[in-house]
Amino acid sequence: MRVVAGLLFCSMMSAQTGSELGARARQYLVDLVRIDTTNPPGNETRVAEYLKQVAAASGIGCELLGDNPARLNFVARLPGASRGARPVLLIAHSDVVPADRKQWSVDPFSGELTRGFIYGRGAQDDKSLLAAELAVMVELKRRGTKLGRDVILLSEVDEEAGSTGISWLIRNAYSKIDAEFALNEGGAALDTKSGGRIFQIQTAEKIPTRVVLTAKGVAGHGSLPRPDNAIVHLARAIERLADADQPVRLNTTTSRYFREIVKLPDYRWLAPLLPRLEDSTAATGAANEIRAKDPELNAMLRTSVSPTMLQAGTKVNVIPNVAEAQIDVRRLPNETREEVERRFRAIVNDPAVEISREQGQDMPSTEPSSMTTALYTAMDKVFRESHPGSIVVPYMSRGATDGSYLRQKGMAVYGVPVFLREDGESRAHGNDERISPGNLTRGTELLWKIVIAVAQ
Ligand SMILES: [Zn+2]
Repeated sequence: MRVVAGLLFCSMMSAQTGSELGARARQYLVDLVRIDTTNPPGNETRVAEYLKQVAAASGIGCELLGDNPARLNFVARLPGASRGARPVLLIAHSDVVPADRKQWSVDPFSGELTRGFIYGRGAQDDKSLLAAELAVMVELKRRGTKLGRDVILLSEVDEEAGSTGISWLIRNAYSKIDAEFALNEGGAALDTKSGGRIFQIQTAEKIPTRVVLTAKGVAGHGSLPRPDNAIVHLARAIERLADADQPVRLNTTTSRYFREIVKLPDYRWLAPLLPRLEDSTAATGAANEIRAKDPELNAMLRTSVSPTMLQAGTKVNVIPNVAEAQIDVRRLPNETREEVERRFRAIVNDPAVEISREQGQDMPSTEPSSMTTALYTAMDKVFRESHPGSIVVPYMSRGATDGSYLRQKGMAVYGVPVFLREDGESRAHGNDERISPGNLTRGTELLWKIVIAVAQ
């Protein structure tokens, strides 16, 4: 009885110390989800005001920055030693993608706790990380932690649409967010079927590269088939592009990723394929074998091509003179846009089809962030210690974040995998987005340990 009572007491104590940080993060997440920052239009100033109120109540200095009063970025700073190391930056965007209420089982902006999860748009992307980062800032201040470097919290607007928040800050207020390295969204922890855990630290990302195919022909009556029918030319071009094997190119992040995951029982099948990936004459065949088993791994090896939109014709008996397709291309960071467009022209090989870029967006292409910084080392240690036997890997995400804008400025940026992907697949941008309170708490505690390791 005594032993049982003792154990119970101990576990309650540890739950209590841990839960203060976790309870705060949970409260912040529910509050943040209830502030609707659907982008467009965003209205992220309401989140910035909330963050300011929490920071001010704790005595943390902060500013609201930007040129649109409805869309202000939030920056807070805890000062470190005057001759300390360069700052560490904690980043989480304040906007969310739209949610279709009809597709959800709960109100997406209620922050409802039901069936063991906190539901809401932003519960994963990216208000959980924002809540955890805010809780860590408040805890550092509350404990009066002596810091060896400044800790900065940035919540930027418009990550989901035009990245105008981070772009404005880089142009107008870079000194306020400049840091040696940063923690950002984009990482993920996953449990494999055999029970091993993989912590994927995002160090690189593929670059969204929208390509437009325009086929031109001669208009005519539908009763007389024409060899220059724009729709037929466009269809052939799409098929050629989608079927072509894009070349395999590894970088420092993906080479290391493949070398590490092969150590897990779930990925032993990769072992004989890895040497072939490094051999330019055998790489395509090896990647195609990988694609047949695991399309996600294949997407880390090559530029990807997904036709997503089509437009042609207005009437069934009229052959249109133009047909257009939009292709969502995710480019490897070590390929230029020009290289990709040149290759696509060769694949399509049809003078009637023009290949052009969509106007107005071009995200920076950058080298992967280093795996030897104090921050990367701290994450590696914290994750391994928290889950002995787990694998910690650098990771290149298919999706893009604001991290690439800061990497372009020379900052090392890491997508920090503090939260576990609970239901196998991410619900970020999906319906019934959710996170369990336990996952949020444990993630916030991991984040705390990482920040302490690098900033104390
Ligand atoms: Zn996000």
